[in-house]
Amino acid sequence: MAMQYARVVVNTRVQPRKIVDDEPRAETPDEAHAAMTFHYSIPPELQGEVRLGQLVVVPFGSRRLQGVILGFDDRSPVDETKNLLEIADSTPVLSSTQIELASWISRYYLAPLIDAVLLMLPPGLARRSRVMVGLNRDLPLPEDLTPGHRAVVDLLRREGEVALAALGRKVGLKDCARLVEDLVSRDVLWKRSQLAEAGVKPRTERVARLKMELTPHVLDALRRAARQKAIVEYLNERGPSPVSEVYAEAGGSNATLRALVDKGLIEVVEQEVWRDPLQGRTFVTSSAPKLTEDQEAAWREIESSLCKKGPEVFLLHGVTGSGKTEIYLRALEEVLARGQQGIVLVPEIALTAQTVRRFAARFPGHVAVLHSKLSVGERYDGWRRIRDGLVDVVIGSRSAVFAPAPDLGLIVIDEEHEWSYKQERTPRYHARDVAIRRAEIEGCKVILGSATPDVVSYYRALRGRYKLLRLPQRIMGHRRRLEEQRAQHRIDEGRFTGIKEVGAEYDEAIYMDLPPVQVVDLRQELKAGNRSIFSRALREGVADALSAEEQVILFLNRRGATTFVMCRDCGHVLKCKRCDVSLTYHSAQGDLVCHHCNRRTPLSDVCPSCGSERIKHFGIGTQKVEAVTRELFPEAKIVRWDRDTTGGKMAHERILERFIDHEAHVMIGTQMIAKGLDLPLVTLVGVLSADTALHLPDFRAGERTFQLLTQVAGRAGRSPLGGKVIVQTYAPSNYCVQAASQHDYETFYAQEIEFRRQQRYPPFGGLVRLIYVHHDEQRCEAKATKMRQTLENKMARLGIPELDLVGPAPAFLSRIRNRYRWHLVVRGREPHALLEGVDFGPGWRVDVDPASLL
Ligand code: ADP
Ligand code: ZN
Ligand code: ZN
Repeated sequence: MAMQYARVVVNTRVQPRKIVDDEPRAETPDEAHAAMTFHYSIPPELQGEVRLGQLVVVPFGSRRLQGVILGFDDRSPVDETKNLLEIADSTPVLSSTQIELASWISRYYLAPLIDAVLLMLPPGLARRSRVMVGLNRDLPLPEDLTPGHRAVVDLLRREGEVALAALGRKVGLKDCARLVEDLVSRDVLWKRSQLAEAGVKPRTERVARLKMELTPHVLDALRRAARQKAIVEYLNERGPSPVSEVYAEAGGSNATLRALVDKGLIEVVEQEVWRDPLQGRTFVTSSAPKLTEDQEAAWREIESSLCKKGPEVFLLHGVTGSGKTEIYLRALEEVLARGQQGIVLVPEIALTAQTVRRFAARFPGHVAVLHSKLSVGERYDGWRRIRDGLVDVVIGSRSAVFAPAPDLGLIVIDEEHEWSYKQERTPRYHARDVAIRRAEIEGCKVILGSATPDVVSYYRALRGRYKLLRLPQRIMGHRRRLEEQRAQHRIDEGRFTGIKEVGAEYDEAIYMDLPPVQVVDLRQELKAGNRSIFSRALREGVADALSAEEQVILFLNRRGATTFVMCRDCGHVLKCKRCDVSLTYHSAQGDLVCHHCNRRTPLSDVCPSCGSERIKHFGIGTQKVEAVTRELFPEAKIVRWDRDTTGGKMAHERILERFIDHEAHVMIGTQMIAKGLDLPLVTLVGVLSADTALHLPDFRAGERTFQLLTQVAGRAGRSPLGGKVIVQTYAPSNYCVQAASQHDYETFYAQEIEFRRQQRYPPFGGLVRLIYVHHDEQRCEAKATKMRQTLENKMARLGIPELDLVGPAPAFLSRIRNRYRWHLVVRGREPHALLEGVDFGPGWRVDVDPASLL
């Protein structure tokens, strides 16, 4: 028997019914849906038409709203159900696997189901639905039609189906809509909604690329065709290039290109375009190089997995430049050869333009880029093209994890430790965890890549949940690239340092040592009477680099610059005894606050560790750094690359370009510059203070510091000139600083995981942060206190073991855009058992697996 009711998730904030506080947890997805969907009866004319995942229009109060069918039922929990009004498009907008993923997101991230569903629909979908009308040809026309009716019928007989919106204009009648309604009710016409075809074509350009190796033989054959020869040489050097660029740089015309195509030497393909601020400044190879032995070993594992059915997750651990991206490319090639699609997530499109370009160069014409800078129309079209299987590789930022690829084989997550993969609004999902869940549902593979894996990921890899693959050596780009740099900057051959051969048969790649890192103890500087923010070593280092006409990057962590209190003699930082996180100095009250448990302590005059009186709060900012640098090095040209202070995106890119073009000598930055970008003249990277990141009141402070320092070190010494890193700190023996300076992830991990175990932080238990936001601070405190009470009661009632409630306390970033924030942290084995079903109400933000506790 046909089901009578459709369960629809409706695009509204209204919940079907208030969930009672301590109702047992829903055990099946169906039960969970029941709490978040509405039942509608299926009218006879739609029986046989309705399908799972369709976009529908339903009556809701006095309105008509869109919704998606998530299931069917033969009974309804309410006595009176309304009818489904119409099906917006017969092709489902969600597949059953997407519905499963949306349910998981809603449950795991404690978010409304509709919000999870909306993640998977293209933006602007609502506006893209249109009503089509057509003639029911198999029925005889009634006799009594008016001239108006006849005009409509005649037009439809001529033109087939027509959009209702266009019909009036075509027929030239004003009351066309009423005429159509009459005819539909008499079965002369049919009428249905459907989604518009992808409208705008993606912007493309013609790109030329070589089809074969440029052997002396080939070149010889072109000796009488100077223009053609110039073009193939240009393509050989630069990789696939837009034809407009080829004409401009290498000469020739359309005819020259056609001649080369006819000879089978090159091909010209349509390729999607996007703006790449670093185009042409980085070297991109378009053909797969021979893998090194390390790469080969990793690749064999992935390859054999791709041959098998079922999900599997790989953690590819390798320093920057160790050849991870080359492995992603190889894996995608295999996936495409199997007729499947792949998704590649990168943390930030703007900072990874070269990575994107490498993929596009390897798979010309097959790549779609999804990111937030695209217009709504472009994103809608991208979504359509992916769903219809017209695209094989999707590259994008976190939301691309939802790309509706019909037969997904692989998801790659580059820089998997990056927190930009976490969405900071409801649903607060993490793209990596969604990818892994999606892979389990769809049976595909995931590759997580990082030089500094998230401690949780590494733990899982060591426990065997993920397969760990290592690339221990850094490949110094391409030999050809190196030669190019040397010529460009006129670097003597003798200055090549730290370079090792890969092996006899590898003529393309060379290994390169990681740069040495010098840790400078700022306590010793003070003892020696140096009160400057530049240690003697850093000052000398900068002076040396500048006199050799090389470049310097000075790095300062943006966050936490002026908050913690530290002894200048022994480096002791005041911490909360209960929470083991740094206390924050509040100048207004003149006291110290723990932003986890709200404990306040008066500021002491002497260091509790060594008795020194030189204990005070720490302060340093980029402006100060710039001023001091100018004073010390009046000749040097300085740029500041600081997201907060530079006006707009373009200014930002111009600053970077100036630095790349060697128009500036020193760059002071608060964030790391683009991945994969070669800055051959940068021979010194100075970290002004490792402490600012280290002493943030957050359990991830150590991990972040390690990641940051390692990343910084990865930017130095990527050139024939070699390079070094200087890290200044008051805590030179801290394990994060130590391990980073040795490029030693394992040692860092061993200590960090012990700290997590002791404090029961992830991976030893879940973490959910509850934040109440309001412009009245007292109300924040009252609400947070009441929530703690509610949760304590529920814990007692249900007997939930092994959960800590920490707080409430004002958050470290206690006021953002004039609204106060108080938070409360639930920590322990199964926070969901406590939190599911709790009615938080407005003002609350529920953050499962928060990026930080700041
Ligand atoms: P990662 O993604 O780990 O930073 P990449 O894959 O970008 O590393 O590799 C670093 C550099 O080495 C790139 O310029 C890349 O083209 C080059 N490279 C990687 N593997 C090889 C190889 N097997 N032979 C030659 N060059 C290689
Ligand atoms: Zn001290
Ligand atoms: Zn505390």
